[in-house]
Amino acid sequence: MLCGKIWKAKFLISFHCRPKTVPYSNHFLSSSFLRLLHNQLHNTQAAFMAAKHPKDEAYLSTTIPKRIQLFQSIQAQILADRSSLPSHQIKITLPDGTMKEGQKWKTAPLDVAKEISKSLAANALIAQVDGVLWDMSRPLENDCELKLFTFDSDEGRDTFWHSSAHILGQSLEMEYGCKLCIGPCTTRGEGFYYDAFYDDLGLNDDHFKQIESGALKAVSEKQPFERIEVTRQQALEMFSDNKFKVEIINDLPEDKTITVYRCGPLVDLCRGPHIPNTSFVKAFACLKASSAYWRGNKDRESLQRVYGISYPDQKRLKEYLHLLEEAKKYDHRLLGTKQELFFCHPLSPGSWFFLPHGARIYNKLMDFMRAQYKDRGYEEVLSPNMYNMQLWETSGHASNYKENMFVFEVWP
Ligand SMILES: [Zn+2]
Repeated sequence: MLCGKIWKAKFLISFHCRPKTVPYSNHFLSSSFLRLLHNQLHNTQAAFMAAKHPKDEAYLSTTIPKRIQLFQSIQAQILADRSSLPSHQIKITLPDGTMKEGQKWKTAPLDVAKEISKSLAANALIAQVDGVLWDMSRPLENDCELKLFTFDSDEGRDTFWHSSAHILGQSLEMEYGCKLCIGPCTTRGEGFYYDAFYDDLGLNDDHFKQIESGALKAVSEKQPFERIEVTRQQALEMFSDNKFKVEIINDLPEDKTITVYRCGPLVDLCRGPHIPNTSFVKAFACLKASSAYWRGNKDRESLQRVYGISYPDQKRLKEYLHLLEEAKKYDHRLLGTKQELFFCHPLSPGSWFFLPHGARIYNKLMDFMRAQYKDRGYEEVLSPNMYNMQLWETSGHASNYKENMFVFEVWP
């Protein structure tokens, strides 16, 4: 029995007949009726315009100054405490065995990079100190082994994209007054996203220009990424206006060191590390917007996820966007529709209507697969087309790929 659960259609070729209660099945639709649906779809598609949405000025005018003030007062205390710590000479070992000298609590990886070369100082994004990733401006605490990474390394690239998520978050918060949730680099290893709660606003491509201009403003201000460690109580006070951040803080293990970073007006809960400042991002673009559930849980708040990409130069961004355009040309969904093999229609979203030539290919493939099963000693089984969302929450698909899944609610 279907009772108020969310179900998901499975996009795999499977052998099935629709139940008799369904008004029509693929097998009984005439090709002329499919043509009718096909034409109707193209005639009724209308451009969706960005809805005007009032910015939550009250949230911005209270939250931003409060967070900055708390950040600055904690930072001042940390700096005062650090200046009173005894500093002595430390030995810094580079990957090639070269030894550099520095001052405990004073020398930062950036100072070492400057000593090596101007170009390294201008391009190094992140350091590794005794195996731990470390901000370029964070003072060294002991004798250590030091590595430096640029954009051409996994560590540098991940840090670059993760830091760009803060720039995106800053823009989203300033432009819409949304409540920021989480903003990692993507698990696919290209770019980043930021999830945020916007009440009833749905974001789409029409919002990208505004978001990108907010991001470019942050970049032009060369905002340094500043790090402080805070107590749980300080973190809760700093983010008390954002229930999502409060939930994250409350879920952190008791012994966890909590770190907070600031870049410009954005003070964010984050373990870091980050690139030295926002100006390292020379090219920034939004890629797509979709919805996501808070913590991937269908019973929690619905959020908006904005995906972005960034590079240290315009050339690489252009190349990346060109590749995306090329990939689109070979998208089987577009090609198949263009060649009149199949099409999709709101009457059965997420499913495909096969036109005569498409159905011929489909059946050929089915015959081939069936013969292969037999030759290879497999037996055929039949599986459902729809599954309760619980399956995809357990498998991890919901938290990683929900925006690419077709989800709908089934009421009792
Ligand atoms: Zn971060």
